[in-house]
Amino acid sequence: MTFTNDATRPYAEVIGDPIAHSKSPLIHGFWLEVLGIDADYRATHVTPEALPGYFAQRRADPHWRGCNITIPHKLAALDHVEDRGGVRGTIGAINLALRVDALDDEGDAIIGTNTDAGGFYAPIAGLDLSGAPVTVIGAGGAARAILFALSKIGVGPVTILNRNVLKAAALLATFGLKGQALPLNAGIGPCALLVNASALGMAGQPPLDVDLSALPEDAVVYDVVYAPLETALLKAARARDLETVDGLDMLIGQAALAFEMLFGAEPPRDRDEDLRALLTK
Ligand code: NAP
Repeated sequence: MTFTNDATRPYAEVIGDPIAHSKSPLIHGFWLEVLGIDADYRATHVTPEALPGYFAQRRADPHWRGCNITIPHKLAALDHVEDRGGVRGTIGAINLALRVDALDDEGDAIIGTNTDAGGFYAPIAGLDLSGAPVTVIGAGGAARAILFALSKIGVGPVTILNRNVLKAAALLATFGLKGQALPLNAGIGPCALLVNASALGMAGQPPLDVDLSALPEDAVVYDVVYAPLETALLKAARARDLETVDGLDMLIGQAALAFEMLFGAEPPRDRDEDLRALLTK
């Protein structure tokens, strides 16, 4: 695989294998157009074997601003970037590589970071969750970013429900969270925030069947799955008149942080309704 290109202006991209499904080009393309920024954002197919060659080529390309990173490269990409924020020891995966000035004034450097934690937090930043009980379903990559964010907020006890309970217990320890790890069928107890961070409910995956009757009236239900957008979990929460946050909120939130770092401009968040319409067309 070769990654030569004819770019004559700044560009960024999302890399993955497969990559055709990614919504990142639509999001970043929309913001670039609204702001009238003379730059591109594209999707580039990169296989695991091609990853070292990809970073070698892009490092030498002055037009390349950076890339979003998706499955299966979120961990392997750490070997090709500077990990100034210590992401390897916390979230354990990056979703953004970025060209920045080198610390030693020798040209530039590529750093890795993760905007999923900030993207998850943005839609719930107005909630007071300090000391509040939280339930998270899932213990994969998305859950790691979410638990990292929850540990920074200082939430109360965290219950993680996951198929692999040991993996969930290890995450509580990794993020210094008090709480418990339980199997998926343990049921949802009372909590202030319920997050589905698993693949359950996603198109092509088994459904997520949970009973929300134990949730208090002011509980917030957050589903990170965005395909479909209206998941069975969110439907059940709305049927109970609970506040909900959907997967596009997090997806747009993580992209907004990345956009600012890639293109040095704040995305036009007052156009979110138009963007959501574009993404759900
Ligand atoms: P991942 O690392 O592969 O983790 C998948 C999680 O789902 C694990 O907890 C896994 O349980 C569980 N799971 C998968 N299949 C299952 C099954 N058949 N039965 C029971 N549990 C199952 O994936 P991820 O990257 O965390 O992604 C999870 C979801 O979050 C996906 O739908 C993804 O699209 C979404 N996501 C959304 C955003 C956003 O911005 N909105 C960002 C990232 C991810 P085990 O641990 O037991 O295997």
